[in-house]
Amino acid sequence: MPNTLARMRWCLAVAMGLAAGVVLAQQPVDRDALLDSPNAEWLTYGGDYAETHYSPLDQINDSNVERLGLAWEWEIAGTAGNLESTPLVRDGVIYATGTWSNVFAIDARTGEQIWRWDPGIVRSRADGGPSVCCGPVNRGLAMYGDKVFAGLLDGRLVALNRATGLVDWAVQTTPLGLDYSITGAPRVVNDKVVIGNSGAEFGVRGYVTAYDAETGEQLWRFHTVPGNPADGFESEAMERAAETWSGEWWIVGGGGTVWDGYAFDPEENLLYIGTGNGSPWSRAIRSPEGGDNLYLSSIVAVDADTGEMRWYYQTTPGDDWDYTAVQPLMLLDLEIDGRERQVIVKAPKNGFFYVIDRTSGAFISAQPFSDDVTWATGIDQETGRPIENPDARYDAESTGVWVSPGPGGAHNWHPMSYNPDTGLVYFPAGSSNFFYSVDAEFEYEPGGFNTGVPFGRGAAGDDRPPRPELRGPRGGVVLAWDPVTNSEVWRVERNGTSGGTLSTAGNLVFRPGDSRIWAHDAGTGEALWSGYLGSSFATPVAYELDGRQYIVVEVNGSGPGFGRGGFGGEEDGPMVPARMVALVLDGEPLPDPPPPADDEDSGGDG
Ligand code: CA
Repeated sequence: MPNTLARMRWCLAVAMGLAAGVVLAQQPVDRDALLDSPNAEWLTYGGDYAETHYSPLDQINDSNVERLGLAWEWEIAGTAGNLESTPLVRDGVIYATGTWSNVFAIDARTGEQIWRWDPGIVRSRADGGPSVCCGPVNRGLAMYGDKVFAGLLDGRLVALNRATGLVDWAVQTTPLGLDYSITGAPRVVNDKVVIGNSGAEFGVRGYVTAYDAETGEQLWRFHTVPGNPADGFESEAMERAAETWSGEWWIVGGGGTVWDGYAFDPEENLLYIGTGNGSPWSRAIRSPEGGDNLYLSSIVAVDADTGEMRWYYQTTPGDDWDYTAVQPLMLLDLEIDGRERQVIVKAPKNGFFYVIDRTSGAFISAQPFSDDVTWATGIDQETGRPIENPDARYDAESTGVWVSPGPGGAHNWHPMSYNPDTGLVYFPAGSSNFFYSVDAEFEYEPGGFNTGVPFGRGAAGDDRPPRPELRGPRGGVVLAWDPVTNSEVWRVERNGTSGGTLSTAGNLVFRPGDSRIWAHDAGTGEALWSGYLGSSFATPVAYELDGRQYIVVEVNGSGPGFGRGGFGGEEDGPMVPARMVALVLDGEPLPDPPPPADDEDSGGDG
């Protein structure tokens, strides 16, 4: 970087810092910092490369958590719609995102805004804005050097200066005019920023791309499904994948978008990605002769420096039900059957909790975590393939079928956390069903919802069979899961309130439920404390400043206007504003809930 430019940036940073009345003493985030994941801070989406959402802080613990109260709150203005961002914390500053790809930095001590950046996303597709399936959401940032990185709804990846919020570089990661968007948080591995995209409900071809963190130069791209064979294959992985498809899948795109989960193993130098559902949903339309349709609904391990595939494990071969496998990935080292295993675990939409060898992709175990799973009766322990319920498939000849889980999935984007002392994984789960049938009139319409599956009564019309009763609670649960035995240890009901979980060394797990944030004994599940937040929330993180431990979380707004998915104008905004809430020991008491409690569930996906 030319010295003059560096000096200009430095002067600007100082000026901005003085203007905001804060002292900015910023340490660059280097490779070692990301590898060490310092206790007092939160440098990456999952808290560490293993994506455990675990904080080693224990000042707030099972003996004093009932003293938790409000340190400060900051109103996140203009953000009707769901907040899904996991904040990052560095040098006393919180970095996070709101809806419509807004990015902001706030003082972690006081909750005062330092800067805010609105990329000015065009809000209507008719005016050239992005196609958005599930609200204008964003799940957060990555951090490296002096920058934070955000993926935007319009497909851009931007690097912002941490001190000033000014754009350092920006690249368009998606072809203009197609129905891609970005809602996921980027990750930084080996000086590269990695980002995928969304859009499989509209019809796109999924991929993930790595960019140079300093310059934004594209370094590699891995497609998750093959393109038109006539155009040639990008890799041997695509050539092999094409053998599992039929028809002209490339016209609609095939799907397999990488819109959320990543993890990184520095020793193996493997980046793990989760891939999305088929596009269209119905395999009968997408790939008329059947087939597994690689690499839809899979965990894929790629070399972090080249993007070359090392292995894959497909959770839902021949996806027919919008069963994305993008849900959070987590790396654990476990002793299973007397052997030390390096594993990757996940609880995707299809309702099974998977434990896979992360060095080889070898199947270890899978068990249903949802009370309502009807598409398969189990996973074959020898082959790792699902034992499908033959009635769960549907085609143009059938009038349709009720299947559990439905497209919202038994677990969606909500982060899960791990506590190394209890050995348990904590995540929200739920029960649902959906009537799947083929839209006999289906024609691909660019810009439209191209699932090939009608909503409502479906192909059966008035002859649709009655909706089966669900076994699990409609409002969902939070599960404590033992990944060694692959079984549930304890559960609590959520009653519709969504959010991710946080584990801490204070023997605590924080989780959503009843419009509150709850703290439980991580081992026994005993409820130790709860605070009323009035709505669903994103995912809490922990940090320490001046000897005090904080818990901070983005909380959705609530009331009229909120339920419009963020598409209402300012005047239609929520009655209760969205806000960032920070909690400390001996803080101000949280408000009592007004009767009756108002609540919104954010079950949509990317
Ligand atoms: Ca989907």
